[in-house]
Amino acid sequence: MRRVAVFGATGSIGASTLDVIARHPDRFRATALTANDKVDELVALCVRHRPDIAVVADASRYAALRDALAGAGLHTEARAGSEALVELAGSDACDTVVAAIVGAAGLPSTLAAARAGKRLLLANKEAIVVAGALLVEAVAANGAELLPIDSEHNAIFQCLPGPAIHGAARPGVRRIVLTASGGPFRGRTRAQLAEVSPDEACAHPKWRMGRKISVDSATLMNKGLEVIEAHWLFGAAADAIDVVVHPQSIVHSLVEYADGSMLAQLGNPDMRTALAYGLAWPDRIDAGVAPLDLAALARLDFEAPDRAAFPCLDLAYRALREGGGAATVLNAANEVAVSAFLQGRLGFLGIATVLAAALDALHGARADSLDALLALDAEARRVATTLLRSP
Ligand code: NAD
Ligand code: MG
Repeated sequence: MRRVAVFGATGSIGASTLDVIARHPDRFRATALTANDKVDELVALCVRHRPDIAVVADASRYAALRDALAGAGLHTEARAGSEALVELAGSDACDTVVAAIVGAAGLPSTLAAARAGKRLLLANKEAIVVAGALLVEAVAANGAELLPIDSEHNAIFQCLPGPAIHGAARPGVRRIVLTASGGPFRGRTRAQLAEVSPDEACAHPKWRMGRKISVDSATLMNKGLEVIEAHWLFGAAADAIDVVVHPQSIVHSLVEYADGSMLAQLGNPDMRTALAYGLAWPDRIDAGVAPLDLAALARLDFEAPDRAAFPCLDLAYRALREGGGAATVLNAANEVAVSAFLQGRLGFLGIATVLAAALDALHGARADSLDALLALDAEARRVATTLLRSP
């Protein structure tokens, strides 16, 4: 029986995870659930899944959580605060951690799970973008199992040979090809993007996701973050990672081999496939996902990304090539810029402008420990916030 802690249980990935767990009560039990501050939603999940522990990251919500759990007649223990998240990730309450908090806020608990040698299902891509070297080293040093949940990386994981040795280049692999849906604004020119609204940006054609990743999909920064994520997970250099737009989101990514073969993983766009694979690996279990009907699909299309209209993709390649702390800066500035866009304080095109200026301002920054990375993250947020005021 796997004992699973779901970090970010109230989110989109959290819901998909709990759906797969509930289909296999003989294999999995959700022993801990966490949320940022939405006590009502967290308690509703506790009523359904009966975990031992519930954690709310916002420490001021502790009493509300404790009282609501008691009021619902549950024996679930209430905990609160960011330290409680870190403690839970490394504790005996779980052997498997689903890292599905959004943003760099998920880094400390994700790293703690790796350091404690857990099976780590990584959806929280920002954690590996911010702290790739540290995370991959912690996984190797402590015998953790790092299973990529991002659909593209899960696909690549399924298409690579042999056991997963994270960060090590595979012999015979020539190139990794990440597919991108292109987001809701595929086909638009730069000029046509100036006035788009947050709700338009969040109306993704193929995936239902949280608002932050939805905006990232609209700017193509999501694919940029995924390029950096692929570098750390699969030991591929920037030149060996490509992006192709595939609007149907059926081919989740591909691996090209030296002999000219390309292997791809296909499936309906539903994150439960990746989560079921990560939870049961190396077994295959029912995920509740309908099989593909290829004849009904009839065709699959591929095109090159429009790098001029969506400059965030190349900003991510730039940060990856620069190395050092550049990816940490890029991610922090992006979190600030996306939040400002969602609140109506920054235009869509301003996102890339802020990112480029933040990379310039903090060029050459380095950070090798968790504390140093968090300090650089904070510094980059300050710089980006200043840039918002003086575009
Ligand atoms: P979401 O916004 O739906 O959920 C985010 C979760 O994180 C919520 O449970 C929220 O309570 C929690 N959270 C937010 N801020 C927090 C904080 N400061 N401290 C602690 N907890 C906090 O997001 P999502 O779409 O489920 O995405 C989660 C992660 O998975 C992101 O990193 C995203 O890039 C990645 N991901 C998501 C999808 C998808 O289909 N949704 C696909 C691939 C990767
Ligand atoms: Mg993805």
